[in-house]
Amino acid sequence: MQRIARELNERRAQHLYRTRRVCSSPQGARIQIDGRTLLNFCSNDYLGLANHPAVVAALNEGASRYGVGAGAAHLINGHSAAHHVLEEELAEFVGRPRALLFSTGYMANVGTISALTGRDDVILEDRLNHASLIDGARSSGARVRRYRHRDVEHLDELLTTSTQAERLIVSDGVFSMDGDCTPLEKLIPVARKHSATLMVDDAHGIGVVGTGGRGTIETVSASVDDVPVLVGTLGKALGTFGAFVAGSADLIEYLIQTARSYIYTTAIPPAVAYATRTSLRLAREETWRRDKLRALIERFRAGAQQLGISLPDASTPIQPVLVHESETANALSAALAERGILVQPIRPPTVPKGQARLRITLSAAHEEQDVDQLIDALTVLK
Ligand SMILES: *Cc1c(COP(=O)(O)O)cnc(C)c1O
Repeated sequence: MQRIARELNERRAQHLYRTRRVCSSPQGARIQIDGRTLLNFCSNDYLGLANHPAVVAALNEGASRYGVGAGAAHLINGHSAAHHVLEEELAEFVGRPRALLFSTGYMANVGTISALTGRDDVILEDRLNHASLIDGARSSGARVRRYRHRDVEHLDELLTTSTQAERLIVSDGVFSMDGDCTPLEKLIPVARKHSATLMVDDAHGIGVVGTGGRGTIETVSASVDDVPVLVGTLGKALGTFGAFVAGSADLIEYLIQTARSYIYTTAIPPAVAYATRTSLRLAREETWRRDKLRALIERFRAGAQQLGISLPDASTPIQPVLVHESETANALSAALAERGILVQPIRPPTVPKGQARLRITLSAAHEEQDVDQLIDALTVLK
């Protein structure tokens, strides 16, 4: 395959080549990576639960009770009591009749979208939706139309000119690379007006957004009729691994029968589900984590503003600094590492061309001094 060498070279030349760094510590404010200890501003462990002692203890206890592997898919004999109870607790948390565990958020999105739509249908996606939502739409065979980012008037127009009877509107709740939120209060009435079904992927909202951490649906008290298909992930704010879809009993039963990425894969280790019950409890009860996170976000935004760094109008833990060129993003990330700060450059095709950025994320695991150190290091941007 000549194409392999050619494309690798092209990527290098365009500053788009991706490499992995080896992390040898748990997640936390500081991590050991490639043999150095760096202040970590790029993980999605927003509540600081990925290495919480109670979650680690629950994982150990879960392993003692259930062993390591699930042994099979959920529909064979891999559906353990730990999975089952976690599904009930997740459903209750987001105020939906039922929830269904998937092995990853990627699989939840691909499986759900392609189960709900087919050749004769249309899917409307925000232009900045996560790759898994785009891939789900592609694999469904449905017509895909993308509306301008957060532009509900454009969505309305596209729906008006779509003739398909079944319409699925799909959006990130919190946009993963931009940190802004979908305008749910406007999406819901537009969906209703056009008899479309609304699907929200709140991978970065669950645990973080809303006083109770129920995500973007909490901010507008969106019912199951308003947002019939809700996706959440467990590997971000909840600090473990896996994902879920929440909705009506019929939706969940339908996905069990038809979602291929649910049916044809091994269930996540039951011990992980068991540990997630503990992290879900901590995320619900320890409201100070969200309060602390919010205060740190405000501190960061105020500090950045003093440096003249412009940030999008968003108060989520995702605070991207746009630098446009991939080469610049790489250089700045390297300069920050020199100063003891870990921030990944995010480049195309993860973001549109010309929109490379430093994606800074904050966590309740950080302290004020950590944020101050970040701000201090960001003087490299000047
Ligand atoms: C991370 C992410 C996913 C994928 O979730 P995984 O569990 O990591 O596969 C899906 N959607 C969005 C918006 C994400 O940011």
